[in-house]
Amino acid sequence: MIKTTVNTSSGSTAPTGDEVYDVAVIGAGAAGLSAALLLGRARRRVVVIDAGEPRNAPAAHMHGFLSRDGLPPATLLDLGQAEIAHYGVDVIRGRVEHVEPGYGVRLEGGPVLRVRRLLVATGLRDELPDIPGVRERWGRDLLHCPYCHAYEVRDQPLAVLGTHPGAVHQALLLRQWSDDVVLLPHTLDLTAQDREQLKARGLYLIEGEIKQLVVDDDRLRGIELADGRVVPRTAAFLFPRPVPHDELLTRLGCDKDDAGWVVTDRTGRTSVAGVWAVGNVADARAQVVAAAGMGSTAGFAINTDLLDEDVDRAVEQHRHAAAATR
Ligand SMILES: Cc1cc2nc3c(=O)[nH]c(=O)nc-3n(C[C@H](O)[C@H](O)[C@H](O)COP(=O)(O)OP(=O)(O)OC[C@H]3O[C@@H](n4cnc5c(N)ncnc54)[C@H](O)[C@@H]3O)c2cc1C
Repeated sequence: MIKTTVNTSSGSTAPTGDEVYDVAVIGAGAAGLSAALLLGRARRRVVVIDAGEPRNAPAAHMHGFLSRDGLPPATLLDLGQAEIAHYGVDVIRGRVEHVEPGYGVRLEGGPVLRVRRLLVATGLRDELPDIPGVRERWGRDLLHCPYCHAYEVRDQPLAVLGTHPGAVHQALLLRQWSDDVVLLPHTLDLTAQDREQLKARGLYLIEGEIKQLVVDDDRLRGIELADGRVVPRTAAFLFPRPVPHDELLTRLGCDKDDAGWVVTDRTGRTSVAGVWAVGNVADARAQVVAAAGMGSTAGFAINTDLLDEDVDRAVEQHRHAAAATR
């Protein structure tokens, strides 16, 4: 269990559940932190709850984020946390267990926080194939996103593991970074069109079931097949199955699409009033910069939604006061 710790950057005491926050942000990756930054700067009372397990934690460097290219992923999040602290956002290290309708946010082993709006930015989990070595090398020299990491292994002997139908496209794409790319179809059935495209693009095919990744001196050396052959490679790619951390949204009754992903509008608003979902929990393809953009857009929309409610309340109170003086 993750120990719940509280950093009330506003200088207030630890949340007891008595205060009503304007917004609870669940998940402090790029998506959640960006929303919290915008909302903190809008002087909203915001609490961020984070379990501390961002998706890209296994990677040493993060690429493709303008002005932050090559930064360790944890450094980006540390910088973000320092920025939101400056605007009085409370940060709780812990896991949200459940969200009650009307928004009571229940923390594992902690209080129930009352909130007016909810932003879920809980990311996703990459489901990896059960091949020895895959889990250990993940995010190091076993990679998934050419846009994030292929430049760093350009011109090297690369492999694509055929553990998902997306592997063919991944191999065709990777050819942009190296002229020595081998696709190991493993258990994948390739169509005649796949084979023609791969050949035309100058890719190599090596059939046979993959047994394990060969690692020596903490570096990938190759891919071993069940028949004992070893294909020497210095980096490999595979396409994991993305599984969104959307249990909280599912239990709240948020609509999903045919592929099982929570449906949102362009601001991240779900079908349940007052609930937004951004980043990888809503879109598996969102890279860090896109997740940050989604968070910022949702923060803007949530503040507008709160403003509408604040104005309605103010008008009601104003009318009551005016009636009382008549
Ligand atoms: C190995 C690897 C390398 C990558 N490299 C790059 C790269 O170089 N460049 C790039 O742009 N993208 C990269 N990505 C993609 C990147 O990880 C995602 O784009 C990014 O993490 C999405 O941000 P997010 O805020 O949606 O989710 P996350 O960063 O995953 O953050 C979600 C947070 O929510 C927390 N959480 C989940 N459930 C709960 C709960 N119930 N209660 C409280 N907290 C909870 C998690 O612990 C986590 O801290 C990489 C991905 C992987 C797997």
